[in-house]
Amino acid sequence: NSPPTVHNFGAGPSVLPRSVLQTAQAEFLNFADSGMSVLELSHRSEAFDRVMRDTERSARQLLAIPDDYSVLFLQGGASTQFAAVWYNLMASKVVRDRSGTGQTLPPVDYLITGTWSKRAAQEASRLGAPVNVVFDASTDETTGQAFTGIPARNRWQFSGPSGRDAAYVYYCDNETVHGVEWDHVPEVHPDTVLVCDMSSNIMSRPVDVRRFGVILAGAQKNMGPAGVTMVIVRNDLLTRTEPASYPAFPTMLDYLVAQANRSLYNTPPTFTIYLCGLVYQWIKDQGGVVAMAQQNEAKLALLRQVLAHSSLYRSPIDPRYQSRMNVVINLTKPELEGPFLQQAQARHMVQLKGHRSIGGIRVSLYNALPLTSVQALVRFMTDFEHQVAN
Ligand code: PLP
Repeated sequence: NSPPTVHNFGAGPSVLPRSVLQTAQAEFLNFADSGMSVLELSHRSEAFDRVMRDTERSARQLLAIPDDYSVLFLQGGASTQFAAVWYNLMASKVVRDRSGTGQTLPPVDYLITGTWSKRAAQEASRLGAPVNVVFDASTDETTGQAFTGIPARNRWQFSGPSGRDAAYVYYCDNETVHGVEWDHVPEVHPDTVLVCDMSSNIMSRPVDVRRFGVILAGAQKNMGPAGVTMVIVRNDLLTRTEPASYPAFPTMLDYLVAQANRSLYNTPPTFTIYLCGLVYQWIKDQGGVVAMAQQNEAKLALLRQVLAHSSLYRSPIDPRYQSRMNVVINLTKPELEGPFLQQAQARHMVQLKGHRSIGGIRVSLYNALPLTSVQALVRFMTDFEHQVAN
């Protein structure tokens, strides 16, 4: 019995290309003629060292990461990075300002566009620095709905008279829960360190890494399975002079330790890193992130077309900031949500239920989701609308 073709619209973890899973399966018991599974290789072995180097090289190629940036593969999920970013950049700011230890901590600036940037700001707040909310889009003034877009630039308030006092400015490029994605890099003072969470849209389009001090991204949407988080950090931000590692923070969160040990300070999630390497190779084979961007636009265009002609399906999101990765859809007759999901499931269209915090339907269109799945979905959506209208 061959398994059914499933159309996986899940927001995570992991929608993976079938060919990547097939390669992993073929190599599972005997990796690179070692007679062992990747799972069994020492993380200090030559064979795994090659995996690590190849994975990093591919990531650098795909995102055109400049040589003066480090690429780290870390654990604890993107959520751990909410704290790690704070500690590392606070220490870096202390060095840059030569303010020594024991000084008042500088503020940090957060642009809040949804659940994940909000959580990151809350974490920074727990750690003790004053968190300046540049804006909080939790309520749209016109619709009254939460997180539907990005407020006009003239409503943003950065720290300090010239907008450059913060240790860093933080934002999330794609809000996975609410489906809001930036269509540009926010303009900040040229001296500020810009930090971006790209967990759910990394490698879905080209990015100018030079604009950022730190990019962080959990692997489990577009890069591989859960278990590793990629951090891209500009090297000058890692310079420290003793005792400037103030405030003191856990070794496992320290980017400098990770960099000095090439992400092998402790046992890394070896199998996850190996799978990320296979996914990177797959993206390269498809034509890189430019090709991914084209495909993702084409997938979103199909959904936009249905939305434009429907009286049943509604997007709450400002079209300019409509995420290409996570499309939140509300039914104008909410009682039809259950039947919609049931009938979709019967056609092997799965994981369409919206995030538990906001409900509705969420269609995730990650890199590995083929156009044919979206074509099948829009056919079903159109059929369903006709059926309930009659
Ligand atoms: N940031 C974004 C944009 C996310 O989508 C998620 C999880 O879905 C996170 C952060 C948190 O990631 P993790 O579960 O790896 O901690």
